[in-house]
Amino acid sequence: MFSLRRVGCKILEQWRAPVVVAAKSKNFSTEAPRPLTMLTEDELAMRETIRKLAMEQIAPLVKKMEDEHKIDEGIRQMLFDNGLMGIETPAEYSGSGCGFLTMMLVVEELSRVDPAVAAYVDIHNTLVNSLFMKLGTEEQKTKYLTKLCTEYAGSFCLTEPTSGSDAFALKTVAKKDGKDYVINGSKMWISNSDVAGVFLIMANADPSKGYKGITCFIAERDTPGLTVAKPENKLGIRASGTCMVHFDNVRVPEENILGEYGKG
Ligand SMILES: Cc1cc2nc3c(=O)[nH]c(=O)nc-3n(C[C@H](O)[C@H](O)[C@H](O)COP(=O)(O)OP(=O)(O)OC[C@H]3O[C@@H](n4cnc5c(N)ncnc54)[C@H](O)[C@@H]3O)c2cc1C
Repeated sequence: MFSLRRVGCKILEQWRAPVVVAAKSKNFSTEAPRPLTMLTEDELAMRETIRKLAMEQIAPLVKKMEDEHKIDEGIRQMLFDNGLMGIETPAEYSGSGCGFLTMMLVVEELSRVDPAVAAYVDIHNTLVNSLFMKLGTEEQKTKYLTKLCTEYAGSFCLTEPTSGSDAFALKTVAKKDGKDYVINGSKMWISNSDVAGVFLIMANADPSKGYKGITCFIAERDTPGLTVAKPENKLGIRASGTCMVHFDNVRVPEENILGEYGKG
């Protein structure tokens, strides 16, 4: 079985050497950064492998998944088994430890075959895992990143019915109550929310401070008061679950703030 965990990290380790060889052969300065269009042999091999994986395992199920509005469970498991749900996440949290370019190659190759599966992988990796990696405490990383790489998908909850591009206008609030915060509000068009095990929720903890009150909270799927509506009936990428998520007195402890208070 192919696994990014086994082959992926090699790309980072060998990053410098192929750049120098490629640069010399093309008369580029060895000091100049490598053009993004010039892939190393490992990256080319990786691209081919993901292309093959997508053609052999995902392509036969695309129509069924679009019709059923959900990504096949076997495909979701295959993505975890092959290290594609923790592409940039370090190995200590069960991730593949690759770089962002590898992440892009994987998403491009999945998109060729099924953009819904690509959206699932992309949003999980670049919006959820990367925030945990950049902002998480050691406890949060150990608790959530490991599961995000091996067990469940994550959702990033920012957009609301009355705030899209103007994200600072969000109305979801988080009211302090003892050592907890109580979240109330609704989010719209939240990818992966049909299956996610953990949600990153942008809520305003102090509306009097305007956008400086917006804080990012972590909530697990089974937290009382957190409900997910049925997926929207979209024109395309229908297998990617895009749902409303409601928070009705969702209580989370203060330790569930991701990053700093007011910097959500
Ligand atoms: C399939 C899908 C999946 C999504 N997944 C997620 C998710 O996982 N998490 C999440 O939080 N959100 C998600 N979203 C929501 C997405 O982030 C929003 O759609 C996006 O932020 C735009 O907001 P909007 O749709 O309300 O459009 P609007 O903000 O209403 O914008 C409509 C149009 O007006 C333009 N516009 C807006 N403001 C201005 C301005 N000031 N000047 C000029 N032009 C302007 C925009 O460019 C756009 O063309 C998803 C959306 C879709 C369709």
